[in-house]
Parts: sequence; structure tokens; C-alpha cells
Amino acid sequence: MLNASRQHLVNQVPGFLSQAEGEALYRAAHAVAHLGCILEIGSYCGKSTVFLGAAAEQSGNLVFALDHHQGSVEHQPGEFFYDPNLTDKDGRTDTLHTFRQTLTAADLNHSVVALVGDATAIGLRWQQRLGMVFIDGGHSMHDAVSDYRLWSGHVALGGLLAVHDHYPKASAGGQAPKAIIDAALQSGLWDLIESCDSLKVLQRLGA
Ligand code: MG
Repeated sequence: MLNASRQHLVNQVPGFLSQAEGEALYRAAHAVAHLGCILEIGSYCGKSTVFLGAAAEQSGNLVFALDHHQGSVEHQPGEFFYDPNLTDKDGRTDTLHTFRQTLTAADLNHSVVALVGDATAIGLRWQQRLGMVFIDGGHSMHDAVSDYRLWSGHVALGGLLAVHDHYPKASAGGQAPKAIIDAALQSGLWDLIESCDSLKVLQRLGA
């Protein structure tokens, strides 16, 4: 798990991940390191990335941390999760600087590679088999379905698909993450192996 200095760090990093969810991500990433790299969609300021990166370091693996770093709809000026500390000189949301600070402070640049760009553009051209995909990017139905459609097929048999922000009822949160989890389970290709707060972890079934 995280050493004391990394734990102290993630306690300060802005983000929406609980400690228990972070620890579940660490265990999941550690468990499937032999199957391939880890890919995270939606790194924001790097809180979840530190958990995944620490697991990768421990297991000799690598995390690809994919984010355009311009924030989702809810992070834009005037929106609920807008953070004036996470902006460029023109007031636009920009989390890349903070993300890089987090990874450097965590001493994890050797275990994490940032992919800065659009998850769809990269996903359409991705070819490498992955041990685990963590979807926590755009939470619109369009973005969540696109991430699921483009990335879940790259998970190796026995590998893991983790999805954040699953809320059983619409009154608690957006329903797009739940929709892709439901679709995965209904496909018969995935088993739900862990639920932790709003995090769900699914395992890709073998032949
Ligand atoms: Mg999230």
C-alpha cells in the first residue's frame, strides 16, 4: 500500500476518490500486473494515479494516465466542481501542472506515463493488451459509453475493468457510470468482483 509520505500527499491532492477506493484500486492493479499495463482514463490531479502508480512500482508494471487535463463539464467556470486553483492564466481549467506536481512529489514518474489528450482519439488507435482499465473520465452518457466501447476490449482475459462514480439512484449522482457497468454485466463477459463506495471492479471472463 502507500508509504507514509505518499499517503500524506494523497490526503492533500484535490480529487473525488475515497481512501477505501484508492486502496481497492491499488489491490486490483497489483493483482493483474502479470497481464499487462494499467490504463487510467481521467487522472485529474493524480490522486487515483498515485495508488495505481504505487501498485505498478511494486509489481514492475506501468500506468498510462490519460486525461486532456482541461477538466470535465462540471469543472468549468460557474459549474459545481469548478476549482479556481486549477486554472491557467486565462482562467480555464488546467489540471496538468498539478498532476505533474503530484506525480513528482510521489516519486512515481518511473511508473506512470501521462497521456495528455482525448480518450477517443487515443482509444481508436490503441493496440496494446492491458491488465486493467480504470474509467473515471467524462461522466456524460456519451463519454462514458465511448470510453467503455473503445477501451474495455483491450483488457486481457482475466484482467480488470474498474469504474468510478457508480450511484444506484439518480438522486445520488449521474447514471452514466452505472449504465456502462450494467451493460458490461449484461453482456456476460464480465463478473463483478468488488464494490467499494462508488467504485466497481469487474473481471473479464476467460473462454
Ligand atoms: Mg470519479
